[in-house]
Amino acid sequence: MVDFNRKFDVLVIGGGNAALCAAISARRSGASVLVLEGAPKFYRGGNTRHTRNMRCAHDAATDILTGPYTEEEFWNDLLVVTGGQTDEELARFMIRESKDILNWIVEQGVRWQPSLGGTLSLGRTNSFFLGGGRAMLNALYLTAERLGVEIVYDAEVTGLQIENGMFLGATLKQPVDGATEIRASALVAAAGGFEANIEWLKEYWGDAADNFLIRGTPYNRGSVLKMLLDNGVQDVGDPTQCHAVAIDARAPKFDGGIITRHDSVVFGIVVNKHAQRFYDEGEDIWPKRYAIWGRLVAAQPDQIAYIIFDSSVVTSFMPTLFPPIGAPTVAELAAKLELDPAALEKTVADFNAAVQPGTFNHTILDDCRTEGLMPAKTHWARKIDAPPYLAYPVRPGITFTYLGTRVNKQSRMLMKDGKPAANMFAAGEIMAGNVLGKGYAAGIGMTIGSVFGRVAGREAARNARN
Ligand SMILES: Cc1cc2nc3c(=O)[nH]c(=O)nc-3n(C[C@H](O)[C@H](O)[C@H](O)COP(=O)(O)OP(=O)(O)OC[C@H]3O[C@@H](n4cnc5c(N)ncnc54)[C@H](O)[C@@H]3O)c2cc1C
Repeated sequence: MVDFNRKFDVLVIGGGNAALCAAISARRSGASVLVLEGAPKFYRGGNTRHTRNMRCAHDAATDILTGPYTEEEFWNDLLVVTGGQTDEELARFMIRESKDILNWIVEQGVRWQPSLGGTLSLGRTNSFFLGGGRAMLNALYLTAERLGVEIVYDAEVTGLQIENGMFLGATLKQPVDGATEIRASALVAAAGGFEANIEWLKEYWGDAADNFLIRGTPYNRGSVLKMLLDNGVQDVGDPTQCHAVAIDARAPKFDGGIITRHDSVVFGIVVNKHAQRFYDEGEDIWPKRYAIWGRLVAAQPDQIAYIIFDSSVVTSFMPTLFPPIGAPTVAELAAKLELDPAALEKTVADFNAAVQPGTFNHTILDDCRTEGLMPAKTHWARKIDAPPYLAYPVRPGITFTYLGTRVNKQSRMLMKDGKPAANMFAAGEIMAGNVLGKGYAAGIGMTIGSVFGRVAGREAARNARN
């Protein structure tokens, strides 16, 4: 039983990667630590449960990484995907620290495995968790418990007492062991973004947000973020920016996870409900582009689209949970998808006529492209002419939002007047917007959580001591 009458050194709100890295780091720095996880124990760990890998810089190949990935290359990748919308000082700091995280996270019990083949081709840049995100979390929880971190589940925080940038205490939605008020000397907020809060999403997306599917936990409703911003913490990031991919339209509203994602875009064409193409499906290699398709589909009428391909490519991408919808002709496929058959036939015929000869290779920017087509398909364009014709219906799958709390290199929140908060730190999705102004490169979510979680825990412990 947790003694709620005591004042903890560090209170960590959240139960995912960022929270656990912060809790372990704070505890290892000598602090007493309480973790409040809003979800029940079975669902602990937020979006982290769904993850598979983390992107870290390294100067040489390792047991599981096929070659070096320098700080500069990581920085350049981040620059490209964000279009420069990143805090360079913080981002470079994160990348530098990520080198050490490769070993630090193993010291906390997490194990790596080599990446399997597949369309993401991340074997050089990203380390995969043995057993996936849930195994990774289980290792972190076990380590935290062994170190003496106190953890409470079903402990949703609904109130924060903050005076002039100074955290005083937190209020629980429902009593735990009779207590609802928690006191601590320092706070680490690691409670995720607001992606599961459809009403909040609607403030920026309008009714379109009703058609969004949330890939992860229903518990990331952004309540802690909102309370912090309402109490004078400086915000960072565009509220409409988020990580969003195309996922199967048949997926559940929440928590469908990784198996609902479709990576087949580069092997076919994508049309909207009017059977019209709307974007270059072959713009760049898939790890750098998969995360734009959620937003692209969100901008289409009724937020629905269809990946159209043929039988020649079905073994080219990872098997999917939901089977493709198939038909012997394009017109019959259109009928099954409730699209205008003539319109889809014309779109496929126009595409096929524009395809130029080339040598197909999905691992490089190959020379298979269209000519005279708008929008063009600039790589991996091959005719769709081998029946049966197949399709996946897709909707925007929101992974996490980028609006967050601004922090400095100590992971300490900054107040609206620019001054550092007295004793408040943030890590993970809740501050991801400092690094990710827009765009995404696979595996950075976990880098942000691990690097800033570790720093936030250490700094919060130091802060609590002083
Ligand atoms: C399907 C899927 C696959 C992904 N794959 C990858 C991947 O392979 N690599 C990668 O880098 N990133 C991946 N991501 C993104 C990654 O999950 C996040 O970037 C990362 O897990 C964020 O960690 P976090 O600790 O900040 O948030 P989370 O892990 O989401 O944790 C937030 C926690 O806060 C808790 N919480 C929320 N509100 C409250 C409250 N009021 N009171 C108490 N607790 C609260 C939640 O219950 C949860 O435990 C994926 C995401 C999804 C959805």
